[in-house]
Amino acid sequence: MSDALPIAGGSDVRRYLRGLFGRHPRAIGIALALHVLAAAAGLAAPRLLGQLVEAVHDGTSVDHVDRVALALAGFLVVQTVLTRYARYRSQVFGEQILAELREDFVDNTLNLPIGTVENAGSGDLLTRTSRDVEQLGWSVRWAIPEWLIAVITAVMTLIGAVLVGWWVLLPCLLGVPPLVIALRWYLARAKDGYLWEGETYSTINASLTETVEGARTVEALGLQQARIDRVDDDITESYRAERYTLSLRTIFFPTVETAYLIPTVATLLLGGWLYLRGDASLGEVTAATLYVQALIDPVDRMISILDELQVGGASLARLLGVAQVPEDRVATGRQPVDEKIDAADVRFSYVEGRDVLHGVDLSVGIGERIAMVGPSGAGKSTLGRLLAGIHPPRTGSVTVGDVGLTELPLSELRGHVALVTQEHHVFVGTIRDNLALAVDEAATDARLLEALDSVDAGDWVRALPQGLLTKVGSGGLELSPAQAQQLALARLVLADPHTLVLDEATSLIDPRAARHLERSLAAVLEGRTVIAIAHRLFSAHDADRVAVVEDGRITEFGSHHELVAADGSYADLWKSWNS
Ligand code: ADP
Repeated sequence: MSDALPIAGGSDVRRYLRGLFGRHPRAIGIALALHVLAAAAGLAAPRLLGQLVEAVHDGTSVDHVDRVALALAGFLVVQTVLTRYARYRSQVFGEQILAELREDFVDNTLNLPIGTVENAGSGDLLTRTSRDVEQLGWSVRWAIPEWLIAVITAVMTLIGAVLVGWWVLLPCLLGVPPLVIALRWYLARAKDGYLWEGETYSTINASLTETVEGARTVEALGLQQARIDRVDDDITESYRAERYTLSLRTIFFPTVETAYLIPTVATLLLGGWLYLRGDASLGEVTAATLYVQALIDPVDRMISILDELQVGGASLARLLGVAQVPEDRVATGRQPVDEKIDAADVRFSYVEGRDVLHGVDLSVGIGERIAMVGPSGAGKSTLGRLLAGIHPPRTGSVTVGDVGLTELPLSELRGHVALVTQEHHVFVGTIRDNLALAVDEAATDARLLEALDSVDAGDWVRALPQGLLTKVGSGGLELSPAQAQQLALARLVLADPHTLVLDEATSLIDPRAARHLERSLAAVLEGRTVIAIAHRLFSAHDADRVAVVEDGRITEFGSHHELVAADGSYADLWKSWNS
């Protein structure tokens, strides 16, 4: 049912990263320089130990041993202090990068076409905003700095080893082929594996959100078992994906562990042979072996963090993918000549190749009240969303004053047409914030209170100790569903669209509050064009004209009396309603 959001390709991810890091050359330079210095301080130990071994072998004084020990301790202190600053710098830098990534992601998400947000299902977007952002945070805070440290340490250690003698390179090289082969094998498979894993999490989330959102329908239609089976299937798939990536790891890591041992053993053997021939001193062989052994740790970290970076890369690709959703609104700058809404030969599909609207024509007079009725699943809500400019039609046109609804920027569109559902959202902030987002920050209190009065909410808001400045939403004052709905209606009054599309499909309102709200709603509807998706026929009775929607088409269109007289589907519905 849901179209997944796109995923960015490798070259897009790299371009983005270059841009992101390219903006901070100084911060990167300082952090890298500190890490190099810290690693350099760490290089002294094997050398000193080598000298010590040689000195002991040749016979030495306690005094000399003490001096070497003191030097070792000194380098250790220097290394510790440098490492501390290097890490501190990288952490600060990591947080900064993470903040920029987050801001970009929020921008991309807010710029998503609203039709896409509805279609992609909240599951995918939720997974990306939660799991992927968290995964990326982990990569940026931990994996990238650790990886850089490991690379720097490995390079510096190798330099230290080569300074002992070029022959050390030979045993080191022996370890390379098995490592490269294992890495190539793993990297070729890992990214897709982790993407697959991520997708399965999205699917689980989507199934769960769908089930929860449609809980009443599920119960009403007795679909519980089907939903449970569906989630079980999703979990099985996710399990398979996890098993796959796990099997990659269980082959890769043991191979790599074995490859590490080769250079150390080879250095000892080669060093021993050179020593016996008199080509290397005991101190050199000791230092070389210690360096090569010291290489294992950073190389191992480098490789295992690559794994983390893969997961982070997959997450980043999914986050950047959000920016790649094609724009479905093109602002042309044309202005509506009046407020007349027209739909002509409108076809629309959620899923390619399966139209749910099959050529709908509808012309709504200014100030007219239209009711849309028809069986569930006929396409009323879909048509409502197209008439409110949320989705563009696949073919045909939906216009206000001869301008396509998707040619208007959202901010302008809302001044012409708005969709009103009974899903109401209270934003975290003050009541003032909740209202002002429909107009602008600077709206006067008087204007906001007037809008509240017009929906009968002025009194309870004034009665609050902090009035408009009362904090609502999570952590603030908890509003009743009816009060939340009133805020939503007051927002509408402020945005002042000429046409309202009312979808009462998801009536969540407590019946005791309904009468009160209907008064508020009636006040809002006053003087506007209204297209109401009527799930109760009595509101159709009051409409100027009724459109009967059946199977994606308008099959009857006329006043209540005309349609009753015509004795078609509407007449049947009306009879069954009244019997
Ligand atoms: P109504 O409002 O008349 O009950 P809808 O407009 O909700 O009908 O649905 C019309 C058809 O479109 C139905 O077959 C429904 O399953 C399908 N549909 C509705 N919303 C979506 C969606 N987001 N994705 C895919 N199909 C959808």
